[in-house]
Amino acid sequence: MNQQQQNQTVVPVIGRFAPSPTGPLHFGTLLAALGSYLLAKCSGGRWLLRIEDLDPPRVVPGAAETMLRLLEQLGFEWDGEIVYQSQRYARYQQILGQLDQDGRVFDCSCTRREILASAPHSGEEGPVYPGTCRGGARGKRSERAIRLRVADEDISYRDGVFGLQKQNLAEEVGDFILHRVDGLFAYQLAVVVDDIDTGITQVVRGADLLSSTPRQIYLYQCLKVALPEYFHLPLAFGDNGKKLSKRNGDIGLVTVENGSAMVWRALEFLGQSPPEELFHATPGELLCWGRNNFQAATIPAENRQVRF
Ligand code: GLU
Repeated sequence: MNQQQQNQTVVPVIGRFAPSPTGPLHFGTLLAALGSYLLAKCSGGRWLLRIEDLDPPRVVPGAAETMLRLLEQLGFEWDGEIVYQSQRYARYQQILGQLDQDGRVFDCSCTRREILASAPHSGEEGPVYPGTCRGGARGKRSERAIRLRVADEDISYRDGVFGLQKQNLAEEVGDFILHRVDGLFAYQLAVVVDDIDTGITQVVRGADLLSSTPRQIYLYQCLKVALPEYFHLPLAFGDNGKKLSKRNGDIGLVTVENGSAMVWRALEFLGQSPPEELFHATPGELLCWGRNNFQAATIPAENRQVRF
């Protein structure tokens, strides 16, 4: 090792898997679990687990426990304590207070219908907020959401799979919600606060969140915290052309019985080539191969159909 290498501080990777407990483990969720686990572990990093039970009406009772048990049976090993978002509301409130003190948030009393009617155009995720309440809540309603004021500038980042990404929040999203009218904290706020508090340096998740990332990066900037690196994984579509997810029925469900085949297919889907002699290996043996052989460079930047 030369002097320069010795002087470099190596930052250990801290990755995470953050499923929402809205149903059983699915091929799509397995991709996120496997990709985040192997990317963290192949460089000797840590892999944390967080249950995103932020939205109580969407939580399926018992789903988190069933998913955790199955991950364990498949051979995944996580580091440290599991974080539950439902136990962190006080912390989200504290950060919201900090953003308020910095003059970054404002109350908004607009209804969805009012926003739709006055929005100049629609972004990927609905109407772009037109800034109605920026100078003070103006609507008739007493219920208020809290929005983060965004800057009119491009946010760009280099995704480890999908390459350079760019979004102008003011033009494509608008001031976005951190605290909802129904009293719940928004996903964008919770995920950033949790990632910061647990020291996450590497975010690996499905490509459906590519367009949320600029909002999260903006929050990091507001909170003056260094960014993690991002890897968005290709999405698997079912026969109907829709994202394979818990909402699409039983297709692609992962079980102890099909675990080996599912992990094998997930490795292949992520552009990895496990050797043929491992075809009948246990999921744990496949994970072991992945920890030693995972290549981020061969993950394809392309959503594809999968047949089961
Ligand atoms: N909870 C989200 C999901 O299950 C993932 C959030 C994230 O990884 O940032 O899709």
